[in-house]
Amino acid sequence: MLLAIVDTEGIVTKETKYGDSSRILTVISRELGKISILAGSVRRGKSGLLTATAMFSHSRFTLFKGGSSSLYKLNEGELLHSFAPLRESLEEMAFASYFCDVTNCIIQEEAPDPPQTDLLLRTLYMLTRPDEDFEKIKAVFEFRSLTIAGLFPNLRQCGGCGRVDGLHYLSPTEGCIYCAKCAASHADTIQITDSMLAAISYIALAEDKKEFSFTMQPTATKYLSEIGERCVEQLLEKSFKTLSYLRRVTSLG
Ligand SMILES: [Zn+2]
Repeated sequence: MLLAIVDTEGIVTKETKYGDSSRILTVISRELGKISILAGSVRRGKSGLLTATAMFSHSRFTLFKGGSSSLYKLNEGELLHSFAPLRESLEEMAFASYFCDVTNCIIQEEAPDPPQTDLLLRTLYMLTRPDEDFEKIKAVFEFRSLTIAGLFPNLRQCGGCGRVDGLHYLSPTEGCIYCAKCAASHADTIQITDSMLAAISYIALAEDKKEFSFTMQPTATKYLSEIGERCVEQLLEKSFKTLSYLRRVTSLG
């Protein structure tokens, strides 16, 4: 069997036990998209490899790829950034797991998506910063992800008649906004204020790395985040277990 050696850098977004001591890692790589890596048992004295393959770690990997198999085998791993705080707090872990889950749904096997990969990285960084509003981070991640995926094509005009003012109804199933007249013929719209629409448009259209740079009251970001998760589940046509878990965790707080 022909073995190819592949070097890549990526984020560990899921881990599954495999056999007694092995794991299969799902890694989001900028160059390769979503890949599966078989990580065998880590020998004593190789603790660096253990950190490099921990959940949320951003690492450089040297992999073997054999023949037609889509599974890579881990040879070496070098940690770039550990995101350790995300594994130490229940709440941070719940948010980070949900962001990884959504990214694993959006990015396909071996289909590189650098904008979404970079957004996930920036979002995980934001979560580790002190005194951040997690619901705001979540809302930004959600609306930005849907925009990158092309599911929110136009927030500037009514999806029905094209008018550009009085847009107060958002459709989480169609990914567009409507005026009151057009909303009347769409059952599942959510009413939004001008400032809510301004925030969603800002998130969607801001330059990379600027998407988090706006201020909003926590009550408003909480509502924005609720709209965000409805849009994510409807437009990606999936209900995320990590989101139900996140909601159980945040309701304790
Ligand atoms: Zn209209």
